[in-house]
Amino acid sequence: MALANILSEMPDLLERTLEEHTPDAEGCCRECRDAAGVSATWPCVTRELAEQARSMNSPAAETGTVAGRRRARSLDATADGRHRS
Ligand SMILES: [Zn+2]
Repeated sequence: MALANILSEMPDLLERTLEEHTPDAEGCCRECRDAAGVSATWPCVTRELAEQARSMNSPAAETGTVAGRRRARSLDATADGRHRS
């Protein structure tokens, strides 16, 4: 939770994390490997952390504000392709 909090304060890092920790053809994370070099099942821990951080920045936390509603609309526009599984 604390780590997700930190990530939510660092949009660049958060965005990069979301970009990098994506599933490969087998549904494993492209970035995460264990000590033996085996890919982690996606969504990996890092990805889940980043998703958590992103939800902290989501309009849910700003319900009722104009800025929140405006942000909600732009997020909707970019949300396509997130639920591919
Ligand atoms: Zn990962």
